[in-house]
Amino acid sequence: MSFSSEVKKEMVSMPVLSACCKHAEAYGLLLFGRNFSSAAVSFAAENRAVSEKYAECVRAITGTEPEYSDRPGKMAIVSVKTAVERRAILNSFGHSAGELSLRINRANLSEECCFASFIRGVFLACGSISSPEKSYHLEFVVPFLKLSNDLFSFLQELGFPPKHIMRKGYHIIYYKDSESIEDLLTLMGATNATLRLIGIKVDKDMRNHVNRRVNFETANIDRSVQAGTQQVDAIRKIERARGLDSLPQGLQEIAQIRLEHPEATLYELEQIFEGRLSRSGINHRLKRLEQIASQL
Ligand SMILES: [Zn+2]
Repeated sequence: MSFSSEVKKEMVSMPVLSACCKHAEAYGLLLFGRNFSSAAVSFAAENRAVSEKYAECVRAITGTEPEYSDRPGKMAIVSVKTAVERRAILNSFGHSAGELSLRINRANLSEECCFASFIRGVFLACGSISSPEKSYHLEFVVPFLKLSNDLFSFLQELGFPPKHIMRKGYHIIYYKDSESIEDLLTLMGATNATLRLIGIKVDKDMRNHVNRRVNFETANIDRSVQAGTQQVDAIRKIERARGLDSLPQGLQEIAQIRLEHPEATLYELEQIFEGRLSRSGINHRLKRLEQIASQL
């Protein structure tokens, strides 16, 4: 099952208690379905659970069962059978048969508690979300300009300013940032989906952090090996030119240790000195050796 279907299944199973919110959810689901006019009120869903929800909303208004048509290889369509039933549905949401362009009738969303239910209905009808393992993307697909403008403004007013593009003649209202998507899912009541999204994000961040850390340490090791090789060359040069005995005691000791541990990091050299010499002290003496060699 796709992540989208899982999210929708979770939303459908969410109990909506107050009558006003039930009405708002049904409105979102029906208005943003496949058709919402006196000629046709219908819905196409990839998901049986959502089709059932649609049928339930139709039944609540008309008292009759809508028609299911299974189309092999395509999404099943649920449609309201008669013109009388279709008009009853339009009327129950304050729409009339002769409307030229669909708009959101805000009278159906008079209470603030209903906003979330309405958006959930809209998402069930025309929304989808990518699997967060792949990318963060949540969208609503709307065929009509004015309806998509209304949805755009409504989401903006809710504090979720979306983005808009056209795709194959459809208006796509979408989100790409994980925070908006998490907050919207929470608003719509898909708590499990939100938690899963957050979990995946934490995993991703952790992996990135570990990768950065590993890269950083690898780079450090590369640097210290390179430094070690340079220092060994310098010490050999001093040895050939005038012997290590010519060096002061402190430098002789570090030269000897460096020759024995050509790839050791400063930290490892510090361990070898067992605290007798600090990392900066070791570093300072090694630099001094390179200086002496460069003057030979
Ligand atoms: Zn309400």
